[in-house]
Amino acid sequence: MNENESEQIAGILESHGAVPCDNAENGNIIIINTCAVREKPVEKLFSLLGRMKTIKQKNNAFIGVAGCIAQIYKEKIMQKNKAVDFIIGPDNLDKIPDIINSLSEADSGIIQTSRNRDWIEIHQISRQNQISGYVTIMKGCNNFCTYCIVPFAKGREKYRPLKHIKKEIRKLADKGFKEIQLLGQNVNSYKDPDSAKDFPFLLKEISQIKGIEWIRFITSHPKDLSEKTIHTMAETDKICRQLHLPIQSGSDHILKRMGRGYTQKEYLEKIELLKKSMPDISLSTDIIVGFPGETEDDFHDTVDILKKVEYTNIFSFRYSQRPFTAALKYKDNIPLETKKQRLITLQEAQRNIQLKLNKSFTGKKIKVLCMGGSKKGYNSYVGRNEAYQPINFKSDKNMTGKFVTVEITACGPYSLIGKLHTTAK
Ligand code: SAH
Ligand code: SF4
Repeated sequence: MNENESEQIAGILESHGAVPCDNAENGNIIIINTCAVREKPVEKLFSLLGRMKTIKQKNNAFIGVAGCIAQIYKEKIMQKNKAVDFIIGPDNLDKIPDIINSLSEADSGIIQTSRNRDWIEIHQISRQNQISGYVTIMKGCNNFCTYCIVPFAKGREKYRPLKHIKKEIRKLADKGFKEIQLLGQNVNSYKDPDSAKDFPFLLKEISQIKGIEWIRFITSHPKDLSEKTIHTMAETDKICRQLHLPIQSGSDHILKRMGRGYTQKEYLEKIELLKKSMPDISLSTDIIVGFPGETEDDFHDTVDILKKVEYTNIFSFRYSQRPFTAALKYKDNIPLETKKQRLITLQEAQRNIQLKLNKSFTGKKIKVLCMGGSKKGYNSYVGRNEAYQPINFKSDKNMTGKFVTVEITACGPYSLIGKLHTTAK
């Protein structure tokens, strides 16, 4: 979502005549788009802002901070960093041109972080990838998991009208995009504000759009992933056999404290239904280690889940306290060393699972959407399979944007290497 918002910011600037530069050092307008979900990026922002002072002086540049850190820490950023000219919250991206125009006359920095209940359409998006396009379908979250800052930073759930979603996807298809990734903090609770139609309806509608061959969506909350959505996935060929379903912890005691609204058993039942409905599905997840009160036993419940589900990929984090969140009432009682050790143990267990899964691909022919040249050398390309794994292969011809068949010849835990077989399409 953060990447897509950066693409939107760039699109807004370009539609007002700005041109991108290759390096922030040369910029006249520099906007740092931030994420507040974990503590580390907040620290990084403050050290980056320190370095911005010299650039500002050199280029007489305007410096802005956007995104969730901007929304949450606006006063602190302005007070501590004289280099910052403006702060722009996630609901106010469309106001960037006006803010920049008024900056030369402004005596002090401008803060624009008001909440907007309506959906603001951004008409130009400067996309990094010309083959797979992000399409935001909702913003915010109503779930209030006890560790999470998102509902405070992004506000309550807000849904984009289906007609605008379809229009954007049609535009992408006309430009030759082959894949779309629907984005939202909790896509399963989507409801079209005009018709109240639900997420499975949206999936069916967009699967009719010619030219788009693969559809993915992220993120699904396990408690809101309905049987109807699972069946729609199974019935619709264009929806990739891949799902990101964050579990966060395998322990019921911790899940309850996190306010996730499901038990380990309920989560595993959904996984079972997914695997039964789509035997070739690949799954990924998010995990937090070291949540307050997490015992060794709780942690082992989480490691056990990895072994049971056999995820293709996981994103794992050490718990960090976030402002406003309900978990602040618990003592952050897991020592940093223990958190670090648990993360290593977890990632090591996952590494072995991934290696085993990837080895089972060896010799198989897989459909891959080529994303472009890779840095791995002359004639090297990288693509993604339906499971969204990176696959490296060589080709004499430029295969960017094409579906190809690749025979897997070697693998590591985090990537697959193959030999180009045929061009599928
Ligand atoms: N809406 C998505 C996740 C959004 S945040 C969902 O519900 O799954 C992305 C991930 O960051 C979360 O899944 C969680 O694993 C992690 N995260 C969120 N808050 C965190 C915190 N305080 N400490 C560590 N990790 C956190
Ligand atoms: Fe955060 Fe929970 Fe909402 Fe995900 S579902 S954004 S983790 S509050």
